[in-house]
Amino acid sequence: MIAMKNNFDFMMPSVNFFGPGVIEKIGERAQLLNMKKVLLVTDSFLRNLENGPVKQTEASLKAAGVEYVFFDGVEPNPKIRNVMDGAAIYRDSLCDSIITIGGGSVHDCGKGIGIVLTNGDDVTKLAGIETLKNPLPPLMAVNTTAGTASEITRHAVLTNEETHLKFVVVSWRNVPLVSFNDPLLMLDVPTKLTAATGMDALCHCVESYVSENRNPITDAQAEKGIKLIGQYLRRAVANGHDLEARTNMAYASLLAGMAFNNADLGYVHAMAHQLGGQYDAPHGVCCAVLMPTVERWNMIASPERFADIAVFLGENIEGLGKMEATEKGIAALERISEDVGIPVNIKAIGANPKDFDLMADNALK
Ligand code: NAD
Repeated sequence: MIAMKNNFDFMMPSVNFFGPGVIEKIGERAQLLNMKKVLLVTDSFLRNLENGPVKQTEASLKAAGVEYVFFDGVEPNPKIRNVMDGAAIYRDSLCDSIITIGGGSVHDCGKGIGIVLTNGDDVTKLAGIETLKNPLPPLMAVNTTAGTASEITRHAVLTNEETHLKFVVVSWRNVPLVSFNDPLLMLDVPTKLTAATGMDALCHCVESYVSENRNPITDAQAEKGIKLIGQYLRRAVANGHDLEARTNMAYASLLAGMAFNNADLGYVHAMAHQLGGQYDAPHGVCCAVLMPTVERWNMIASPERFADIAVFLGENIEGLGKMEATEKGIAALERISEDVGIPVNIKAIGANPKDFDLMADNALK
């Protein structure tokens, strides 16, 4: 087994409001943060959704007398052009703060906008770890998918539309000041997206649990996250209006985010980013498709950890040899993915063998 680190630092999300109905508090929080003119970052679908997350945020901001303007041009796997368009509106409208409303794409785009406003226009130069010299404008995040946890993480994942490369700006300065996880805002997430985002959260837990950078806190978070996802993801996919399942998936996603924010991720994410950048494929699907293969390759380095995962997912490993128990853990992960309807191989997301060498090189970077 890889030795647990004795000394570690642990980054916390600053303030997270969690639970059904917490979105009502956003106007009051905007006032407390002295937000006078907010750039609301979202996509056009969410902006127009009747009684959806954006309309509810608007109602709370209006009640608190907080002014706002929209940038609703975020694309999935957000592109540099989205960041630059949002930053232009922020500047032209003399905004002083940002609120992101959506899933990982929207939060990452909002972070990207904040980054270019205070750290320089060429965001590609800031790819890497702790590259940001200046704080972002005040940023709050209203999360609407149970998957990425970008509302609390230090990562901003962006795509260079010219090279089709995803890159990540990782900095403690990226962590939103306040975030909201209100499961009532997630009830209408479509089935396929529920499955994909839930598998992304599961992958965050698994990669954190086997990471060399794990610590006792991330272990506890990853373990609980895996248990919750094993128990509730199928239910949330089967019935999106199952509030108990949605609440527990939101909780699992939050735990997973805290875990990987500190323990870091592994080859599943390194490779998933290549598929997402190259084919504009949904991130959670990329992770889910790759996870069993990558973890079968990984398992020899950490068999006890995968045996633990089997137990977290309710498997009985009594009397099994070490590698049999390990395989049971990975098979259990694979079964969840199949049960929620994730494709079984990367062909289904358009992967073409001619791109493999390039993507492999980029993943290793
Ligand atoms: P997403 O943000 O791309 O959203 C996908 C679609 O779902 C959008 O079209 C959106 O309109 C719709 N949607 C969102 N919320 C909805 C709701 N409540 N009801 C109905 N429709 C809704 O999906 P995602 O999986 O949340 O984010 C993926 C992105 O996040 C990828 O770019 C990925 O690389 C990134 N990511 C970031 C981090 C991080 O820490 N920053 C971690 C993992 C992944």
